[in-house]
Amino acid sequence: MPYKRKKYHRGDTHLKKGWRTKRRTKDLDEIDEDLKDENLKSLLNQEVDLEKPGAAQYYCVHCARYFINTTALKDHFTTKVHKRRLKALELEPYSVEESERAAGKGSYVAPKKRKIDTLTRDSFDMDTEISSEAKVAKGDA
Ligand SMILES: [Zn+2]
Repeated sequence: MPYKRKKYHRGDTHLKKGWRTKRRTKDLDEIDEDLKDENLKSLLNQEVDLEKPGAAQYYCVHCARYFINTTALKDHFTTKVHKRRLKALELEPYSVEESERAAGKGSYVAPKKRKIDTLTRDSFDMDTEISSEAKVAKGDA
C-alpha cells in the first residue's frame, strides 16, 4: 500500500481528524468508477456550477477535487498528493470476486496493474476533434 505512510503516533492529536467530513472526498473505489469512460466525460465537462470552486470547470477526477482555475489545476497535477493518488489508483480495487478467488473459489488472479495518466479536459477535446475530422473525411468519400 503505497498510499498511506505508516504513522505510529496517529491519534496523539487531532483524534477526530480521520472522521471529519467537511473536506472528505470520494473513496478510491468510487474514483475507480469515475475513471470509466462514460463517467469521465461528464465529470470533465461539468456544467457551470457557481456553488463549486471555479464553477466546477476545473476538476481533478483522480483526487475528486475542484480547482479555481487552470493554473491551480495544472499546479495540482505536479504535486505529491496527486502523483501519490495516481499511484494508488494503479492497482485495481479489491472486489468480492477477488476475495472469493483468494479463498480458493476458482483460480487466483492477481489484481492487475494499470497505467494511470492524468486526465484533463484537454485530452478529451483532442479526442473529439480527431473523431469529428474522421467523420468529415468519411462524408467526403
Ligand atoms: Zn489530482
